[in-house]
Amino acid sequence: MTLTKTEFKEWLLCGKCLWLKKKRPEEYVAGEFSLFLKKLIKDGYEVEAQVQKLYPNGIFVSGDKETLLSKTKELLGGDKPIFQATFETVQGLFAKVDMLNFNKETSKWDLYEIKASSEIKTDLKHNHIKDVVFQTIVVEDAGVEVGDSYIIYINKKYRRDGEVDLKELFVIENVTEIVSEQKSGVRDEIKIALETLEKDDILLEGCDCLYKSHGQRCDSFFKFNPHVPEYSVHHIVAGNKLRLLLADGIINIKDIPEGFDLTDIQNDKVSLQVTGRPQINKEAIESTLSELVFPIYFLDYETYGSPVPLLDGYKTNQQLVFQVSVHKLDEDGTLEHFEYLANKLEGATRGLLDMLKTNIGPVGSVVVWYESFEKGRNEELAELHGEDRGFLEDLNSRVFDLMKVFKKDYLHPEFQGSASIKKVLPVLLPELSYKSLDIQDGTMALSEWEKMIKEDMSQDDIKMTRENLLKYCALDTLAMVEIYKKLKEL
Ligand code: SF4
Repeated sequence: MTLTKTEFKEWLLCGKCLWLKKKRPEEYVAGEFSLFLKKLIKDGYEVEAQVQKLYPNGIFVSGDKETLLSKTKELLGGDKPIFQATFETVQGLFAKVDMLNFNKETSKWDLYEIKASSEIKTDLKHNHIKDVVFQTIVVEDAGVEVGDSYIIYINKKYRRDGEVDLKELFVIENVTEIVSEQKSGVRDEIKIALETLEKDDILLEGCDCLYKSHGQRCDSFFKFNPHVPEYSVHHIVAGNKLRLLLADGIINIKDIPEGFDLTDIQNDKVSLQVTGRPQINKEAIESTLSELVFPIYFLDYETYGSPVPLLDGYKTNQQLVFQVSVHKLDEDGTLEHFEYLANKLEGATRGLLDMLKTNIGPVGSVVVWYESFEKGRNEELAELHGEDRGFLEDLNSRVFDLMKVFKKDYLHPEFQGSASIKKVLPVLLPELSYKSLDIQDGTMALSEWEKMIKEDMSQDDIKMTRENLLKYCALDTLAMVEIYKKLKEL
């Protein structure tokens, strides 16, 4: 039985889940490998490639498993930095080390773990220290003495100014002491992991996440708990209250007894499911919408970020606004549409701001969905384009968040406790669906835009991608217009 660093991390999160994945892969529910995860992996490769530039005499090992192992063995005879140095142990542990760097003073190999993160994380899901401990154990058990251990991560204070300054971009932190403190504990965890993975059978019925809130589950939850509905008591309560309900065999929201200790918001969610009818406070909605000033500008941004700052003035993962859609609604019902989509990184926000300044006048509300996102981007744009600070601050002072209506005054059983536009739209306006579009959410949009600006695309493909992006963003703002009209008709 082999155990890699990734599998060990999975084991720390849930042994049962890893057992199923390795022993009965045909029954394991892998879930969708989301575009978001793909982007994270891509970001990781990008950061590793940048670190490699800091060690220009380093050698990158690649190939199949046997080549990786033999090439590593050969390179350990020299003293050049080795990227992706590969080891396996007789126990079955396997590691590809981000970098080994020969320390001429100690005559030992120092071990480096590279993270596309702006801090060293030690939480349950991402424990960077345990990653280093695991790698160190594998290298040492494979017969190579490790000197010091380091984590290379991104300096969140660094702002790009011209070419990326790699020495400023990365923080290299010595974690040798904490690694050696944790070594014996991690060895024990590895031993238990290997012993469990050797078993041919484990109890498959039920699992610990039955007693946790729904956000903590893996994709195999329903395999172990087939009796739990998709929207269950786990979406209403957590902790002790959840345990009390489950102890009484209550799993459906409708079955939560009257008088059970719930907050007002939780009670609203329960009564929605019990009655099956929406709860609409027309007076409150009317009063909220009366705050709006015509013409109303419905606005939506699409953004793109990268761990390596994109342009001058940008920090790590700072979002660049590459697209905007604006629908302008006049009091007489006239509707106009404006949009902007950048063709490249450079000048993207300049073009976008020029379009906004031309089309958004000094009077009128700016309607968005989830205001902290658009407001946050406007604040960053004001820092980057000081000459437009006044315009952007004025925009922010006129922002109205349409989502707030769906937080308290318009609740529907089919929203399943969410106020996201992706939940609200299909219930209120099923004819305005994202499903018919080639791009259906923000992650797809940024991934398509990245391809459009970075990959060698034909002119036809660029044209098609542009059309798809424009259609998607336009629907975001048209959806808000139509939802607003629906609310006005109540
Ligand atoms: S849902 Fe079950 S199998 Fe999945 S992580 Fe939670 S406890 Fe493990």
